[in-house]
Amino acid sequence: MNTYTDEELIAYLQEQLSSEQATEIEENLRNSPELTTRLAALADASFRDHHSVGQIWRREQLSCPSRSQLGAWLLGTIDSKRAKYIDFHLNTVGCRLCNANLDDLKSASEEQKSAHNRRQKYFQTSIGYLKKS
Ligand SMILES: [Zn+2]
Repeated sequence: MNTYTDEELIAYLQEQLSSEQATEIEENLRNSPELTTRLAALADASFRDHHSVGQIWRREQLSCPSRSQLGAWLLGTIDSKRAKYIDFHLNTVGCRLCNANLDDLKSASEEQKSAHNRRQKYFQTSIGYLKKS
């Protein structure tokens, strides 16, 4: 009677079985301590797996912040609740996609800064040149 596969038992735990199948498993559980032990072990393993970093990453990726939100986070112009979430998303979850996006945004803003510095330098040199003449 103890012929269930792990997949069937996990489906039972996740309430994905039809009510007849679920009732059948429940009847077997009452008569089989071994099946109960197996089910408990599976429940424990699937709970742990569900909370592993990989799982969280896959879940959280569905709610990745947008590029403009990342930009606002970088500039510190985002509300603190969002900022906390993004911080968690980037550093605790370590979302690779968003971290890559962030690197890209950072280097874009560095480029902007150095272009600005170049213009300023050029401007100051021109003024110096004009003053001399
Ligand atoms: Zn992300």
